[in-house]
Amino acid sequence: MTEKELEYYEELIKKQIDELQVTIASMMQSVKPIEPDTSIGRLSRMEAIQAKSISESNLRSKRMRLQRLEAALLRIQRGTFGLCSVCEEDIPEKRLKIAPESTVCMDCLTEK
Ligand SMILES: [Zn+2]
Repeated sequence: MTEKELEYYEELIKKQIDELQVTIASMMQSVKPIEPDTSIGRLSRMEAIQAKSISESNLRSKRMRLQRLEAALLRIQRGTFGLCSVCEEDIPEKRLKIAPESTVCMDCLTEK
């Protein structure tokens, strides 16, 4: 991978990290504990709990993606970015552009 390409991915990853941090911060606002409000009925309380657990798992997956992106940034600095961690072949550009946090190529991913 050329220096120019690495710079491109570094920018891309940093931008995605920024966006994720903003999203996570605003999601944290909505994942507040449910108030034991007696004015809402039993059903709507269950709905509120359900909605809460959905946004919590959503938040978890966002946090995981953030960690993977930060790891990808480290790989850029170490010079191992874009290499499959299983077969050590180059991960196709098309895949990296969609998911720069990828650590395996499509072949190794589907071979599980
Ligand atoms: Zn591979």
